[in-house]
Amino acid sequence: SEAQSYQRVALIGLGLIASSIYWAMKRAGMEAHVTGYARSAETRETAKRLGLCHEIVDSAEAAVKDADLVILAVPVGAMGPIAEAIAPHLKPGCTVSDVGSVKKEVIEAVRPHLPEGVHFVPTHPMAGTEHSGPDAGFASLYDNRWCLIVPDGAPEEATARVEAFWQALGAKTEQMEVEHHDLVCAVVSHVPHLIAYTMVGVADDLRRVSDQEVIKFSAAGFRDFTRIAASDPTMWRDVFMTNKQATLEILGRFTEELFALQRAIRTGDGQLLFDYFTRTREIRRGIL
Ligand code: NAD
Repeated sequence: SEAQSYQRVALIGLGLIASSIYWAMKRAGMEAHVTGYARSAETRETAKRLGLCHEIVDSAEAAVKDADLVILAVPVGAMGPIAEAIAPHLKPGCTVSDVGSVKKEVIEAVRPHLPEGVHFVPTHPMAGTEHSGPDAGFASLYDNRWCLIVPDGAPEEATARVEAFWQALGAKTEQMEVEHHDLVCAVVSHVPHLIAYTMVGVADDLRRVSDQEVIKFSAAGFRDFTRIAASDPTMWRDVFMTNKQATLEILGRFTEELFALQRAIRTGDGQLLFDYFTRTREIRRGIL
């Protein structure tokens, strides 16, 4: 298949996303030689211990040497500097891809560094857990999950090969335009994470309810709702630093809805609450 046609793959950053890519490649029986790089020596040691990648190297420059496919799997804010560092070492005609949760700013940060003849095919696998780091990955992470492909002008052939690669890892793929991607992700992922973080913040701030009580009684909503607030702080800081416009737009809409419900509670408008919950329950039941 087309995905098998990459002979050498470089994974830059060895966290949840990259380690899951490696395990899924192995499961798919791909024969590509995979070289991995992570910034911290501790992560590289953990990766070696886990048997992650065929080879772990000490610099991003060394990792991309001779690679046919380079996947940037570092926090969004680190994509530009990494692209700048590896650019002179890329094999002519290779494909660079990234898995960042934000696309517009990543593309603007990465593309200017890439030499002519190197293809850039940005992607975003819509899969994750609240765990991070090299030991968080597993082969089935991408099964039946969407991987959004944002070619943004990349040649069709290079794009098709990246799509085939993700499909071999178990994902379904769909192409999307850059700004639309960032708005969709603001509503389905970014703002929900922000609200989960604030809910934990509210509980922590409330002196009349102890942390022990929050933990003890958290089954009733708090536990489900705030699971994602255990996610990596660097990753999520970078998401909000770079998807500013879309997340502010969705937060504005969220605040309007919240105020409408707050007013209904204050004025005792049970009908409004009932109608709202009925409509949103129908929508939520359509998911899964
Ligand atoms: P992670 O925290 O598990 O791993 C990040 C990796 O990047 C680590 O190995 C870390 O050592 C390395 N790293 C961090 N800063 C670096 C730097 N400056 N230079 C070199 N290496 C550096 O994160 P993850 O969940 O694997 O996320 C990686 C990327 O994938 C992010 O851009 C994130 O937005 C995106 N993503 C995450 C999810 C998710 O749910 N976790 C889902 C889809 C996409």
